[in-house]
Amino acid sequence: MAVYHDEVEIEDFEYDEEEEMYYYPCPCGDKFEISKEDLANGEDVATCPSCSLVIKVIYNVEDFQNTDEEMAKTSKKPQLEVA
Ligand SMILES: [Zn+2]
Repeated sequence: MAVYHDEVEIEDFEYDEEEEMYYYPCPCGDKFEISKEDLANGEDVATCPSCSLVIKVIYNVEDFQNTDEEMAKTSKKPQLEVA
């Protein structure tokens, strides 16, 4: 089981559009990193390449899965049936 150094909301990460990676400063001087693809896969642990610290990313996985699920979304709309 991973012991998180911290828990950080995705909004507090710095996003690199070219690499599609999210970064957050690590106390060691490097940066924690997690890719947009990882987030879409439900991965929520950002790792630092220079030390062993990890942080938990607070985010809504559905926000990262919209691209392939536009169709599904339409069929999943809430049905407000009044009985
Ligand atoms: Zn580090």
